[in-house]
Amino acid sequence: MDCRQVHQAYSVYLQSKLSPQQMEWVAKHIQDCPDCYLLDQSVRQVFVEDKLVSPPENPLP
Ligand SMILES: [Zn+2]
Repeated sequence: MDCRQVHQAYSVYLQSKLSPQQMEWVAKHIQDCPDCYLLDQSVRQVFVEDKLVSPPENPLP
């Protein structure tokens, strides 16, 4: 699996909707490839922050 295939599958990968084998391919590629690792890190940050119910900082009144 190369970077282009990872990028194509990535949005589906984030939703865990690939086949188990494809999930493994993408996960392995991300571990081995600095470019895709950085992409994964930055996308995941946004993705996770978006899903947080409560914000980390609670402004005092
Ligand atoms: Zn890559």
